[in-house]
Amino acid sequence: MVAQNVKEVIRKLVAMQKIDEELFAFRREIRQKPEELAQIKARFDNKKDLLHKLEAHAKELDLARKAKELDLKSKEQDMIKADVSLMQLKNNKEYQARLFEIENMKVDKAAIEEDILKFMEESEKVAKQIEAEKAVVAVEEKKYLAEKDKVDAAVQKLTEDSSGLESRRREVMIAIDKEPLALYERIVENRDGVAMVPVVNNACGGCFMHLPAQVINKIKKYDGLVRCEICSRLQYLQEDL
Ligand SMILES: [Zn+2]
Repeated sequence: MVAQNVKEVIRKLVAMQKIDEELFAFRREIRQKPEELAQIKARFDNKKDLLHKLEAHAKELDLARKAKELDLKSKEQDMIKADVSLMQLKNNKEYQARLFEIENMKVDKAAIEEDILKFMEESEKVAKQIEAEKAVVAVEEKKYLAEKDKVDAAVQKLTEDSSGLESRRREVMIAIDKEPLALYERIVENRDGVAMVPVVNNACGGCFMHLPAQVINKIKKYDGLVRCEICSRLQYLQEDL
């Protein structure tokens, strides 16, 4: 490359860099927006999980109570049978033994009734928790959906704006030679959108590493593109453009 050409390439790459600065900022925002939304979604999902757990617990309590109610029914039937058989017993010893059985059945029955009552109380408590949690979930859902609308609209706007930049980028790009363009593209992707950096106070404008005089002289010769030894970015002198 002749000196004039290198300087011209640098000018074009710097123009490209200006577009890419904006473009990469857009891309970062487009990436970040859904991440912010994901956090709100996770909070909403957590609340929903808690509600589902409470609902599952309510179902368990219901089933446990129903089982106890069946126990109670069969206990009551046993007691009726025992009462009837009591009348038919002639032997006093057998009579006393059956009477004792019946007393035990009464104790069992009372225990079952107490269990049923406990389940009912617990169910009532859980039902109240479910109502409260449903209200919380509804609020979180509204928040999430509102935020989602906002993020969707923002991402759409960012995408539209960046597609305008992309077409400007293409116009600049076609005027740059293949080889320096490929080098630029590689660096810009690896260095998060910054490939061309001006030398500022004898330091690399990308990583701020001090540049020895011979590197600056090399840049000034314009017989090729010069990269920073530390961050690999392409160096240029603002005053020479
Ligand atoms: Zn550097």
